[in-house]
Amino acid sequence: MLIGIRGTFLDFTGDPFFQEEEECTRFFSDGLLVIENGHIIEIGNFNDIAPKFSSLSIHHYPDRMILPGFIDAHVHYSQIGIIGSFGKQLLDWLETYVYPEEAKYVDPEFSRAMASLFLDQLLRNGTTTAAVFATVHPQSVNAFFSEADKRNMRMIAGKVMMDREAPQYLLDTPTQSFNDTKELIQNWHRQNRQLYAVTPRFGITCTADELRAAENLKNLFPDVYIHTHIAETHREIEYTLQLFPQCSDYLEVYESFGLVTPESIFAHGIHLSDSEFQRLSEAGSTIAFCPSSNMFLGSGLFPLFKAKSHQHPVPVAVGSDVGAGTSLSLLKTLNEAYKASALLHQNLSPLQAFYLITLGAAKSLSLDHLIGNFEPGKEADLVVLNPQATPLTNLKYSEHATPLNIKSLSDHLFTQICLGDDRSIEKTYIAGQPVLF
Ligand SMILES: [Zn+2]
Repeated sequence: MLIGIRGTFLDFTGDPFFQEEEECTRFFSDGLLVIENGHIIEIGNFNDIAPKFSSLSIHHYPDRMILPGFIDAHVHYSQIGIIGSFGKQLLDWLETYVYPEEAKYVDPEFSRAMASLFLDQLLRNGTTTAAVFATVHPQSVNAFFSEADKRNMRMIAGKVMMDREAPQYLLDTPTQSFNDTKELIQNWHRQNRQLYAVTPRFGITCTADELRAAENLKNLFPDVYIHTHIAETHREIEYTLQLFPQCSDYLEVYESFGLVTPESIFAHGIHLSDSEFQRLSEAGSTIAFCPSSNMFLGSGLFPLFKAKSHQHPVPVAVGSDVGAGTSLSLLKTLNEAYKASALLHQNLSPLQAFYLITLGAAKSLSLDHLIGNFEPGKEADLVVLNPQATPLTNLKYSEHATPLNIKSLSDHLFTQICLGDDRSIEKTYIAGQPVLF
């Protein structure tokens, strides 16, 4: 069955941090996207393509902006319940709010209910793919993947591995962690659209044996992701290096166990040295920039433009990092990204910002052969954005040149970065199907 979606389309074919923006931006003011069995088969101007398809059921969205589904590169589904908890910095935050909350995920029914709520909130915010921390409990991962699979969403997730420096009720052991993770990978990795990430929480909560277990898993299943945290606060870095005195910096802790790979996602990376940037660049690992969380916990400002430099380019994507992040909306997260960069005297352009949550993220996560833009052959995950959803966005909309055209595009996108949220998301499509939220 062929489905056609008609409206104004925007996606990227290159990286606007390194190329002229016009060269890597694709725009159809009256476009048509043709989908068959969940995959894109054609995109172009409506008048050029429509005559080729006589029996097309067309979903028409006049005056709407249609973008590839958003990608959240770092988020904890198990922390949705503690979003907006008051007044702590990273290590106290974990102890006071995170660990007691994560303990609840021992209950598979609770895990399932929270996974369901979390995934529906992602859809409501236009997020179609995310890299997700569950908890230490295998049942939290099973619940998450089965809910994601039910919705046919392309998700990356994994069981947290941690065997020290957290309450006893949340600790595993290297052997148990290895066995549980191995079974989860066998059950879920590449099961339909699901992908597994070996997920050591961070250096502080993992002994050398636990990190070795992660290394062994990566050797056994070379195409799984590694998902962890790095260099979020100075206190964390200091303590990590006390626990691994043989390492001269934080990245070396992960390097020692073969965890710095092209499939690795490191959340935060705020306080990395030049040498660490260089080594991440050589390895092709991804940094998940989490501006909302970085500001909320007072952790610091990630130097985005240092990562996106010719000197040592590191793949970067954006993470909401809920629960320390204060919103699942990647539009609101881009708002924080803009401000974090402004405080470092850099201006994140609207097109660069949207690149980071679409094709930029897909490339960073080595998923750009499947998602990230509207190239034929890719999976049809997309977002229909209403630029006039609220009185204020409506006001701004009428101030910009309309109807929406390539010249006014950056103005319209910047309005969404500053004022947009889940109200802007009119519809989300997963593999060519509109979903309810
Ligand atoms: Zn995190």
